[in-house]
Amino acid sequence: MDLSSIESWVFDLDNTLYPPEEKIFDQIDRKMTSFISEHLKIDKNEAFNIQKNYFLEYGTTLAGLMHDRENNVDPDEFLKFVHDIELQSLNSDPELRNTILGLPGTKFIFTNGTTAHAESVLKKLELENIFESIFDIRAANYIPKPNLEAYNLFIKSTNINPHSSIMFEDMGRNLPPAKSLGMTTVLIKRNIPNSRNVLQEKKYANLWSQDVDADYIIDDLVKFLNNR
Ligand SMILES: [Mg+2]
Repeated sequence: MDLSSIESWVFDLDNTLYPPEEKIFDQIDRKMTSFISEHLKIDKNEAFNIQKNYFLEYGTTLAGLMHDRENNVDPDEFLKFVHDIELQSLNSDPELRNTILGLPGTKFIFTNGTTAHAESVLKKLELENIFESIFDIRAANYIPKPNLEAYNLFIKSTNINPHSSIMFEDMGRNLPPAKSLGMTTVLIKRNIPNSRNVLQEKKYANLWSQDVDADYIIDDLVKFLNNR
């Protein structure tokens, strides 16, 4: 592989810079169910189905909640609630730190979460002061990946040249829009723990493992970056 022309390295955050086994996103997932259940005064099963249907249709649960205005959801209230989680299972990752530090060019975070959450996670992983900027869901006007508009806003905000940029994601559906804008794309295949039996529902089964037209499909980020 030849990544010598890459000048900008773009990383998703959750389940990309740390594995899903850490149960970080799992907590966010449960908080979203609780928020919907409390806010719409429905039981957790119904809330979970609404959550996932919004996620499938709009890119994030929040985008769906905001789209249906009768929900009357304050996005900042939602974001604060769902990111109020425990991060103690996350440990520093010096290998990843050194690897990313050694990449020639500029590094960015592009996340559907918040900057506050990203900063907390980066602090726990000891990946602070590596990234030029964090482009979060507020910077994207609450328009999430995989909506093309989010990528255009990201490119405008960071001033990167997509043709000399590479994007790393754990979620397959978030890569084709990057590819369509000229970016090189890398899917990190992750085993998503099936603690809530989500994957037994056929419509959710291929969200992460779907075959996408990524330039590289990998299972070890550090190994990939060190062998480039
Ligand atoms: Mg992710």
